[in-house]
Amino acid sequence: MIVTGKQLLAKAKEGGYAVPALNVDNLESVLGVLRAVEETGKSVIIQTIPRTLAYGGTGTYIAMIRALYKGGADICVHLDHGGDEEICKKCIQKGYTSVMIDGSALPYEENVKLTSRVAANAHNSGVSVEGELGTIGGKEETSGKVSYTDPYEARDFAQSTKVDSLAVGVGTAHGVYKGTPHIAVERIEEIASLTPVPLVLHGASGLSDEVVRACIRAGICKINFATQLRQAFTAGLRRALAEDEKVFDPKAYMPQAIEEVKNAAIGIIKLCYGE
Ligand SMILES: [Zn+2]
Repeated sequence: MIVTGKQLLAKAKEGGYAVPALNVDNLESVLGVLRAVEETGKSVIIQTIPRTLAYGGTGTYIAMIRALYKGGADICVHLDHGGDEEICKKCIQKGYTSVMIDGSALPYEENVKLTSRVAANAHNSGVSVEGELGTIGGKEETSGKVSYTDPYEARDFAQSTKVDSLAVGVGTAHGVYKGTPHIAVERIEEIASLTPVPLVLHGASGLSDEVVRACIRAGICKINFATQLRQAFTAGLRRALAEDEKVFDPKAYMPQAIEEVKNAAIGIIKLCYGE
């Protein structure tokens, strides 16, 4: 079944694992991720960022997922980094079962107000909501400084906004890391000890398996992977085109890209489920 993020994350919190949240960009990455779900029998969250929706259409990805999902392990379809109320509403209308409202760039009180409004609206439709407090580096970072999530502020934020999960700033960044990132695992523990809301780690592509496992032990219940899957797709595509310069039918060369996405997703699933 296609279920809410809240349902998947409650099980993860109880089971001491994290649900992988895998970003998709096209039909081929959707196929790769769904095949990984079929092969492993594990639940994942399939997510799109607003730029992906601007590229391919707001209702396109959920329509593909619904058409291709064969049942088995539950999945969730999530909007990653929703920037305003409008995009969250649109995705809920299209059938997304979870949305993120990212007010992390706003002053604290403004973030609380925006996130509370989105959460109330989403909950009316039976959809769960992820908020964000603190900053995650990379594309989303505008000020140039990365601020870690304050554990007490996180507790108050979760209580005031009624979010179902919370993305935290603990030293990760989006995109490709330059050098080895320092992740404040003890900060995750502090936040988790004060708030019962499942915590979300963004920017996990490029972290060592060891660090990812430590973050899960500290209380992370959802981990986002985007860059790693985009790299896998592109590597498969490049290889297929290089191997046969005369190939012209996408149905002939895309399977290698799908396979690469599937294999990357299986690796991520095993890591997040502790297998
Ligand atoms: Zn993110």
